[in-house]
Amino acid sequence: MAKVLIIGAGGVGTVVAHKVAGVPQVFTEIMLASRTKSKCDIIAKAVGPNKIKTAQVDADDVGQLIALFKSFNPNIVINVALPYQDLTIMDACLETGVNYLDTASYEPPDVAKFEYKLQWAYHDRFKKAGLTAILGCGFDPGVTGVFTAYALRHHFDEIHYLDIVDCNAGDHGKPFATNFNPEINIREVTQRGKYWEDGKWIETEPHEIHKPLNYPNIGPRESYLIYHEELESLVKNFPALKRARFWMTFGQEYLTHLRVIQNIGMAGIKPVLYEGKEIVPLQFLKAVLPNPGELGENYTGETSIGCRIRGVKNGKEKTYYIYNNCKHQDAYKETGAQGVSYTTGVPAMIGAMMFITGKWKKAGVFNTEEFDPDPFMEQLKLHGLPWHELHDVDLEV
Ligand code: NDP
Repeated sequence: MAKVLIIGAGGVGTVVAHKVAGVPQVFTEIMLASRTKSKCDIIAKAVGPNKIKTAQVDADDVGQLIALFKSFNPNIVINVALPYQDLTIMDACLETGVNYLDTASYEPPDVAKFEYKLQWAYHDRFKKAGLTAILGCGFDPGVTGVFTAYALRHHFDEIHYLDIVDCNAGDHGKPFATNFNPEINIREVTQRGKYWEDGKWIETEPHEIHKPLNYPNIGPRESYLIYHEELESLVKNFPALKRARFWMTFGQEYLTHLRVIQNIGMAGIKPVLYEGKEIVPLQFLKAVLPNPGELGENYTGETSIGCRIRGVKNGKEKTYYIYNNCKHQDAYKETGAQGVSYTTGVPAMIGAMMFITGKWKKAGVFNTEEFDPDPFMEQLKLHGLPWHELHDVDLEV
């Protein structure tokens, strides 16, 4: 018997709600809460009658969270609101004895910077309370950490080079849209690039390093080195890594729009005065851009996300590529959301299932690569994200 509380009713929340409701033997009671309750009600209705309770909560407000947690009494909360709410939700978990899972590391609203430091600082308090916090349990971060742990366990004695490759070869038919929350997405992709090499971080200009990479079933796509949050935990948890990088594909049209948005100041996160009222340009932009959760209907093509790894097995150098491809239309038919929401929401559900079934249960704050990868990998295949392995191939990186 496990009660789960989902916070956030966007694209990812939609997928988590569908997926959690699909495993009633694990999740016996479900509540979906968010800032706008009507959005929760729409999702609950789409999932089916009497499966999901809904509630309104402002997750920036610890008091409101505590009241909600006390009234529903969940075993675990799946936080798929925004990264700004990670700490308040963790505070409420500690206060009420609830376990925690999220898909994105904490970001302060006024600085475009994400890092695990502030969440890792909760480790001792979660440990003392006997509670589990699972950080970054979407696809990337999330499955990428599990893939790396799985690779080390089954195929390598040491991993030396890790390149995470994230391709979205989908077409949503809009001139410009982001695949998840526009504010968080634009903050992420416009920052300086950064990767790990020989024990230190190396910074680049935004999108300075790029090259075409071939993706399975897709072909070549220009891929740009960007900083991504799982690099921070992976270099800590796999100290033999000599280099760790993250690549993401962008189309020329997307990059042109992004450049214009930046050049005209619409990516700004500092409030400006407009007709006597303070507004944040990027938040205003979000209000006029397409809602990522509603891109699914006309989205064609697929995503391909994986880890390209070089290391040593039995004294010999070895290469290995593990990946998942996900078709936007398959995701839409099953949940009403597009592939990026789907590839995030499915691992979040599986992470919560790992906790409830006792397979990922330890007191403290952990990233996904710190748990047993095998039962998680089994569930990925069963819940819509099958993965594939290639051995001794040209990694191109
Ligand atoms: P959306 O913007 O579509 O949804 C966010 C939801 O959170 C909305 O329902 C929003 O409410 C709600 N919310 C925002 N602020 C609050 C608040 N203060 N209190 C309560 N609810 C709030 O985002 P996505 O669904 O696209 O993304 C969700 C999360 O998933 C993000 O953190 C994102 O970074 C992460 N993500 C992770 C990925 C991974 O692979 N690890 C990939 C993609 C996304 P309202 O509707 O009222 O605005």
